[in-house]
Amino acid sequence: MNPCPPLPSPPEPPALDPSGPSTGFRSGFIALVGRPNVGKSTLLNRLVGQKVAITSPVAQTTRRRLRGIHTTPGSQFIFVDTPGIHKPHHLLGERLVRSARDTIGEVDLVLLLVNGSEAAGRGDAFIVNLLRQARVPVHVALNHWDNVPSSQADHQLASYRELLAEPIEEDGSPPHWPLHPISALTGLGTETLLASLEQALPVGPCLYPPETVSDQSESALLAELIREQVLHHTREEVPHSVAVHIDRIVDDERPGPKGKTRVAVLATVLVERHSQKVILIGRGGQMLRTIGSGARKEMEALLNTSVYLELFVKVVPNWRRSSARLAELGYGGSD
Ligand code: GDP
Ligand code: MG
Repeated sequence: MNPCPPLPSPPEPPALDPSGPSTGFRSGFIALVGRPNVGKSTLLNRLVGQKVAITSPVAQTTRRRLRGIHTTPGSQFIFVDTPGIHKPHHLLGERLVRSARDTIGEVDLVLLLVNGSEAAGRGDAFIVNLLRQARVPVHVALNHWDNVPSSQADHQLASYRELLAEPIEEDGSPPHWPLHPISALTGLGTETLLASLEQALPVGPCLYPPETVSDQSESALLAELIREQVLHHTREEVPHSVAVHIDRIVDDERPGPKGKTRVAVLATVLVERHSQKVILIGRGGQMLRTIGSGARKEMEALLNTSVYLELFVKVVPNWRRSSARLAELGYGGSD
């Protein structure tokens, strides 16, 4: 176990510990839970201050339970991103809900995300019921608040208060779940949210080194950045049939542009059918170049160095039916 960041020694109190030095360091696991596409991964990146989870308008982008870590002088937040929850209509859906239930049972706190710019719906009610059964402390983030005109704000808040107000405790009283209007996209309200979550964390040790932002390996993060670009630029069956494998990461000794060091990344994009390979490569290789250049820019931001990226596309029929499939999708394998 790694040591916590040293707290500033007296007489200077720790600047970011609102509860004061006497209560000690706080740490805990916070699950980000909500319907698909409400902005869980976008919020995770915002709260961690760095891109650790990929996002896209395509539902089911998040395939595994990813942890994003944020450490301040007084506390450590370990956020757990989860695949979106919806009412199960098939076995896969059941597994997904089970996985979400397991996650909920393992954390100190749940941050329920809803799309605050829409009226509360049945999908939200389903999740609210799951959380009530779990009896875990819950904070609710009304995301997409950037899309709520101020004239509508009271109406939207009332709609969610009503959703949460139904009596559920054995004594009939509703639980107290604080509401936070936020925008994961613009950052509106997220500092206040973080301060409020910090108050709710239990006293505990620092579980990751303070500079850590994710529990994923560098390779896993880089692979996800490539998959994100595939999701952004392809349609229909391609996104769900793609997996990315990082073959090698090589430090390039030669100085790159502007004298910065360079890293070479060699990666293979797996697809299931030849027709998908044709789409991914595109006419004259144009699609693969677009995907590669988008991913390279994201990698440069992540690694803070210039990156040379080479992508290969390989057809592996039915790779999703291999035994690793559900684990790869994050529906019940290892984290
Ligand atoms: P997830 O499936 O819950 O992880 O959702 P994502 O984080 O992948 O976000 C889905 C889409 O919603 C992306 O296109 C985001 O850019 C967008 N999005 C997320 N949060 C907000 C927000 O607060 N406001 C707006 N306008 N868009 C958002
Ligand atoms: Mg996600």
